[in-house]
Amino acid sequence: MTGSIPCPALDLERVLALLGHRAARFAPRTVEECTSTNTELVERPPIEDGRIHVLIAERQTAGRGRRGRNWHSWPGAGLTFSTLWRFAPGSAVPAGLSLAAGLALARALEKLDVAGIQLKWPNDVLVHGQKLAGILVELLPMRGRPPAAVIGIGINLRLPAHATVPDQPGGITDLAGQLASPPSREELLARVLAELHDLFEVYASAGFPALRAAWQQRNAFADLPVRISGEGVETRGTCIGVDDDGALLVRGEDGVQRILSGEVSLRVDP
Ligand code: ATP
Repeated sequence: MTGSIPCPALDLERVLALLGHRAARFAPRTVEECTSTNTELVERPPIEDGRIHVLIAERQTAGRGRRGRNWHSWPGAGLTFSTLWRFAPGSAVPAGLSLAAGLALARALEKLDVAGIQLKWPNDVLVHGQKLAGILVELLPMRGRPPAAVIGIGINLRLPAHATVPDQPGGITDLAGQLASPPSREELLARVLAELHDLFEVYASAGFPALRAAWQQRNAFADLPVRISGEGVETRGTCIGVDDDGALLVRGEDGVQRILSGEVSLRVDP
């Protein structure tokens, strides 16, 4: 990890130019500071205008992970943003959405030549076991409307030397530590949005089953002994992948168990 860098404001015009023919699909907006971009979009969803709304924060004062945990960010050290996806009328509540978002992020990073990308169920992007990015998916209350989801993403680009976070046994990493010339924030954002856009088209028409094999190829814990805890669950076994709903499959002494709740913690069983 290298020292923190001065942080020029994100150039949205540049992001739209890099998005090319997909630019018209997006409505991006930046804020200097907010509590959490997910909270903003969940509590104040923009009106439906057929576009995919994106909120990027230069600073989050209370970035969120799952189960009340925090996403930590430092000025100029990364990207924190959320997108609001609305699904077609009549769609079922999306299954495996968090995994689909992780796969899009993985593909965008692989196209930037980041080697060793792994996906940790349900929502983390690791590089050789170190956490590079996190995802938080929250469904909007439906109230008779088609499903809509806010997908929040935090990516470490250039962490300050003193950066640490709790509860990451494998440690954390940033793109500056993985690439000789890391992308600009504009390029990174445009690539991730483009990948989300393309992959969600597949997801909207064919669902998670169409993406399952690609997710499993990157499964950080494939065939490893794992421990799942939280929400009254305490299970051990071998991680054998995910099913068509995005549920984690763990083979234990009593057969294969399906873990659907994303509100649990998954760890390698030492
Ligand atoms: P578990 O392994 O227990 O399932 P998780 O890592 O999936 O947890 P999330 O709720 O998805 O947990 O993400 C929040 C966690 O991410 C924090 O508790 C912290 O450990 C880690 N974290 C927070 N900020 C960063 C960051 N900038 N880079 C890497 N990891 C971070």
